[in-house]
Amino acid sequence: MPRNAADSNRMRTYIFGPVPSRRLGISLGVDLTPTKTCSFDCLYCQLSKTRFHTSERKEFCSPDEVIAELKEVLGEIAAPDWITISGTGEPTLHSGLGYILAEIKKINSAPCCVITNSSLIYLPEVRQELMLADRLLPTLSTVSQQTFTRIHRPTPDLQLNKILEGLRIFIHEFTGSVEIEIFVCPGVNDTDEEIKNLRNYLMTLDRLESVYLNAAVRMPLDSEIKTADQNRLNAFRTKLNLSIPVTTAFEHNLVPPRMSNWNRPAVSSDILKLLLRHPCSEQQLERVLGSAPEKLRELLNELSMAGKVKKTANDCWTLVE
Ligand code: SF4
Repeated sequence: MPRNAADSNRMRTYIFGPVPSRRLGISLGVDLTPTKTCSFDCLYCQLSKTRFHTSERKEFCSPDEVIAELKEVLGEIAAPDWITISGTGEPTLHSGLGYILAEIKKINSAPCCVITNSSLIYLPEVRQELMLADRLLPTLSTVSQQTFTRIHRPTPDLQLNKILEGLRIFIHEFTGSVEIEIFVCPGVNDTDEEIKNLRNYLMTLDRLESVYLNAAVRMPLDSEIKTADQNRLNAFRTKLNLSIPVTTAFEHNLVPPRMSNWNRPAVSSDILKLLLRHPCSEQQLERVLGSAPEKLRELLNELSMAGKVKKTANDCWTLVE
């Protein structure tokens, strides 16, 4: 049975992949918002500047259409390890999230994970909807309102103290697993004071399973912050000094490269589908596709010569419209 995104030729609107994911194995993505609709505009965002900066929940797309497309794709591919609600914006902004999660459960094809920036978890209705997931990967990079505003550039109504309380309540009540992602921004949230305060908060979360330290592959050109290397993440972990597992982006095993059975048309198709969802840097494409840099560059140059893709000012690749 086909396993890759390249095996299905139909253009999809909401479903993305399956793609190999650092933390989730083979993950089939569900994107519920228009591109870059987010309550944050993070300094480290690898997509682009937030286009629709909002914290207002809406039905951005028909939940039934999402489920219909998901069923169709699941019928064409081998069962993924996870169905992952994430994508090119903040998924909890979709007011039909609870319904969609309930429908995914009924399909019973794979466990469901939600990747969220945590911004709306202070809302009881969002917590209730997220209870239907099997796994939550929320981001929490600081417990300082000032640093939070600097890193995430949230909509003005979002208050970190409410988010922290909402996250604590959720983790206490949730029966699935939770892994908090901390995005390490050198010189901003990795001072001794920042890490100590974050540690103190994390210690209050009684059922937190693990922590993941992430770092940008490459910063947007206009970003004021730098990328964190392995040493920086290791130092952060040491200072965090938690008794639960703390892994870093550099340690996660990636899906084995396809070099042994490099299939140009399949990889080209995967690239086009990935770029249809959002612009990607070469490093992102390498990791997601599990391909060697030189082969990937060769393919990108071919697609560029064919007028299908182009490089953006911040060194990402995007589709030619
Ligand atoms: S929360 Fe995610 S999608 Fe939104 S701006 Fe931050 S990194 Fe980008």
